[in-house]
Amino acid sequence: MQLARFPRRRYTHAATPIQPLDRLSAHLGGAELWIKRDDLTGLAGGGNKTRKLEFLVADALDQGADTLITVGAVQSNHCRLTLAAAAAEGLKCRLLLEQRVPSSYRADASGNNFLFDLLGAEAIEVVDGGVDISARMSAMADAVRAQGGRPYIIPGGGSNALGALGYVACAQELLTQCFEAGLAFDHIVCASGSAGTHAGLLVGLHMSNAGIPVTGVNVRRPRAEQEGNVHKLAVETAALLQVAAPPRSAVTALESWVGPGYSLPTPEMIEAVRTFARMEGVLLDAVYTGKAAAGLIDLTREGRFKAGERVLFLHTGGAPSLSAFEPLLRTQTK
Ligand SMILES: *Cc1c(COP(=O)(O)O)cnc(C)c1O
Repeated sequence: MQLARFPRRRYTHAATPIQPLDRLSAHLGGAELWIKRDDLTGLAGGGNKTRKLEFLVADALDQGADTLITVGAVQSNHCRLTLAAAAAEGLKCRLLLEQRVPSSYRADASGNNFLFDLLGAEAIEVVDGGVDISARMSAMADAVRAQGGRPYIIPGGGSNALGALGYVACAQELLTQCFEAGLAFDHIVCASGSAGTHAGLLVGLHMSNAGIPVTGVNVRRPRAEQEGNVHKLAVETAALLQVAAPPRSAVTALESWVGPGYSLPTPEMIEAVRTFARMEGVLLDAVYTGKAAAGLIDLTREGRFKAGERVLFLHTGGAPSLSAFEPLLRTQTK
């Protein structure tokens, strides 16, 4: 089925740029590294959730919703962008924040937490990690209904089949850009979290027979669990689109750069964030793209991506959270 059959709102002006990482490639030696700048998508601060929200918010509007409800971690980019989409559409928005790191919520924290306030979150409920998230969101939806509102629940990361269509669209976009530029890639590397980005890309590349393997870099879960999650969502996304699903063997989600856990720092992440900033003028983030770039750097150094091969790193955003990680990332003490 054509993507154009699905209702969609437009939040990004044009295709996001694909740029060479010349200085980083020369520094590492070996494969030729490029970046697709999905940190430059639309809505407040941009990032990968913008592409998913184009389909999810269109569906919410179709259903006559007046309030979006979603969930994320305490520095969630997805919550920031859902709030921004809600504001732009004249909808209300309520957040459930999950303390994946115990006691990590601080009402006065900067980064995305400050932006939740600035973007006008109607309500914020904070829960401990491990609670039944979908039950909590249903209860929030009941509360909206009790007040006469019409809620629409968006899952964490916008990662259901409808949201993943945003990354099927991204795969189509990047293949068109590559064709126009006469630029063929041998690998794609991206962060793999709630799985919608990774799964959508796999479906979009598979349905076009692109033959470009995707290496996901996990930010939270063990390899087998994450690969299962990505494949399940890819199968659901392919079914929604009525195309053939990618095989399980196409799913690679490496666990080597998670470190002690979700959102917890690693030396490799800090190194990657500093290297991209100082060598390429590109801001990554501490939770997702810093760890994914650490994977990209190590795999290039180890020769897993070989000299003469071209590798595309998908920058999924996250820089608006950087200020919350300042003590960790600053090189000069104040
Ligand atoms: C959510 C997020 C990811 C992970 O994408 P998923 O679709 O959840 O796997 C990567 N990078 C950033 C900056 C994110 O906010």
